[in-house]
Amino acid sequence: MAVTLACIGGRDAYNLLQNGALVAERLGPQTTPFGDSQPIYRCESRFGGFFFLSRHGETGYERTPSFVNYRANIYALKDLGARAIVSWSETRAISHNFKIGQYVIVDDLLDETVSRPQTFFEHRGFGHLRQWPVFCPSLRKALIQALGEEKCEFASRGVYVCVEGPRHETPAETRKYAITGGELLGQALVPEVFLAKELQTCYASVCYIARYAEDGTNYRPFEDGRVLPEEVEGQRATAAVERMPRLLERFCDVLSHTPGICKCDSTMTPYVLEGQLGRDWRTWFQQSPPGEQARKGRP
Ligand SMILES: [Zn+2]
Repeated sequence: MAVTLACIGGRDAYNLLQNGALVAERLGPQTTPFGDSQPIYRCESRFGGFFFLSRHGETGYERTPSFVNYRANIYALKDLGARAIVSWSETRAISHNFKIGQYVIVDDLLDETVSRPQTFFEHRGFGHLRQWPVFCPSLRKALIQALGEEKCEFASRGVYVCVEGPRHETPAETRKYAITGGELLGQALVPEVFLAKELQTCYASVCYIARYAEDGTNYRPFEDGRVLPEEVEGQRATAAVERMPRLLERFCDVLSHTPGICKCDSTMTPYVLEGQLGRDWRTWFQQSPPGEQARKGRP
């Protein structure tokens, strides 16, 4: 079966691969017009294969979020044949309506990053894309179904705030994000979600709540009228990570028989129809004069 799904994960997800929870073949870093990607693995499951890319490296935390080569990573996954990307992301909850260990299939985001290239078309102006839906509705629907079938506790929507990092937020920043509608904090989804759109690739995220955002106190959070013990908090976050292989397997199964309801594969069609971009996406990044690029785009 052709591999059409890819998962981008953080350090905890990569540890699962290391300890054998995922059966994987190392394909290694891939060379792209935007530099080398992080190493990529091909994983096997009962319902088909998928690619896995560890966002921060293989031997620890080699790259903080500001220095990840997001363009190379997205390009490499697309080049290998991935048509859909799921990001597995740790978050801190601003809103106490979310529980520690709960999954959230986010549907919107606030971008608070300041130093990450957000387009493949730096000098060419092809990135004026509408950002609704922000995340692929087909993948979100399948993820929600998979979480339901696995009887996981989850929320089917949430507003993700992507901060630059690696430092955590200040109490005043937490209050600011809350006022503007933010519900979860993380450092991973931008610019991945925007870059995936430019390469006409489906992208969605499974977030899990590892802790609450900084509130400037040392009070323990309450849950159901009781103080949530610190060890319970840790156990739930760990359990949320450890379920990843099983959830991905279920997701592969659901995705294989879920009809697509998105238009992610045609985001750049206007540019192609106007002849500004070729029909083969790889030609978009070959060095050639603008006139030649236009001719390539004509039928
Ligand atoms: Zn899609």
